[in-house]
Amino acid sequence: MEKMIFENYESKVQSYSRKFPAVFAKAIGATVFDEKGRRYIDFLAGAGSLNYGHNDRYIKGKLIDYLLDDNICHSLDLHTVAKREFLDTFNTLILKPRNLAYVCQFTGPTGTNAVEAAFKLARKITGRSNIISFTNGFHGVTLGALSAAGNSFYRKAAGVSANNVTFMPFDGYFGKEIDTLSMLEKLLQDKGSGLDLPAAIIVETIQGEGGVNVASDKWLRSLDQLCKTYGIVLIVDDIQAGCGRTGNFFSFESAGIIPDIITLSKSLSGMGLPMSVVLIKPELDVWAPGEHNGTFRGNNPAFVTAKAAIDHYWADDNLSRAVHQKSSLLKSRIESIASKIDGDCKQRGRGMMQGLACPSGEIAHHISREAFKHGLILETSGARGQVLKFLMPLNIPLELLHEGLDILEYSIDQLGGEGVYPTSTYQDADIN
Ligand SMILES: *Cc1c(COP(=O)(O)O)cnc(C)c1O
Repeated sequence: MEKMIFENYESKVQSYSRKFPAVFAKAIGATVFDEKGRRYIDFLAGAGSLNYGHNDRYIKGKLIDYLLDDNICHSLDLHTVAKREFLDTFNTLILKPRNLAYVCQFTGPTGTNAVEAAFKLARKITGRSNIISFTNGFHGVTLGALSAAGNSFYRKAAGVSANNVTFMPFDGYFGKEIDTLSMLEKLLQDKGSGLDLPAAIIVETIQGEGGVNVASDKWLRSLDQLCKTYGIVLIVDDIQAGCGRTGNFFSFESAGIIPDIITLSKSLSGMGLPMSVVLIKPELDVWAPGEHNGTFRGNNPAFVTAKAAIDHYWADDNLSRAVHQKSSLLKSRIESIASKIDGDCKQRGRGMMQGLACPSGEIAHHISREAFKHGLILETSGARGQVLKFLMPLNIPLELLHEGLDILEYSIDQLGGEGVYPTSTYQDADIN
């Protein structure tokens, strides 16, 4: 009965709930509990929206104080104390120490809103319409952002043609030996190539939905150089890989590049409240007042929690160092788990954004399903759903990290070797 409600009254469009069919009630840190009190270790963490875990005590405390005191919650884009404090903290603890100067555009609260705004702005700056996105890229599902999604499953759902985007091969798309950027450069140079000079290039430094593919620092530097040479706006979509996931606040810091535009969302608010920003180099902020708007650009509770998260986790480098330590541990454990699965299995990713590429989507799907039976929430990604993706909260205690990985190992043992995976009604559409 209790699950029939969702079947009867909620649209078939549901996705995560099909893979993790429990009714969740409570959550703290890296654990969630269903309504019967069963505990799960959360390696999904809101698809990377909960880098500091569920219900972080410090962040939540600030939110409760704010709410109890009749402070303003909804404010369109009016000035508020909460927004001022967020802007101040973000500049003092994130931008200035990194020698970065950006203005913040607050957009509608989801990541795709930030991407739409970034595309519009790049088109306005350059007067060009085309955008270059990369194979297996993912930037959201509203029409503009959707056009830049590599996965045809998403693009087809648009129902209209998804225009004005050209796809280029991401780093490593043709294997390690082939430099995909020299190909792009040749196409840009050659008036006969058929490629229109784009307004912008949008890139994820580590592709989240696309299967945890990593762009090397060197490749990112060449991309940055290419954009400068041709007057193309470089947009780094740091919605999933940012906010500490790689150990630095921004995922591109290790490459030493300074993108023209950055999109942030997911973990920005620190406890899963919706909030997005576009960071714009001041000289590129050519918006006319009101030219891009949205009712929900002033989610003050999210400004409060975003500030609290930054105060609590980014005033020193403790979190950063912990992420670097945990990521090498995670890498070596994923490598050893990979060796247990028959066929070609590989660890990939960097920081605490890692994946385990399985020989097929079906195998990854069975592992994820078996792991869920034993109390671990671990999703799949990639065009065929073939990559198990590890996005546990960054501050997960070591014991829980190990316990989750132990569950994964146990689940793989339960399934046995290749060939004995149960056949299922698995379809690509189910797992994306
Ligand atoms: C999740 C995500 C988006 C879209 O964010 P929504 O809040 O789902 O609209 C865009 N880009 C990247 C890299 C993402 O991971």
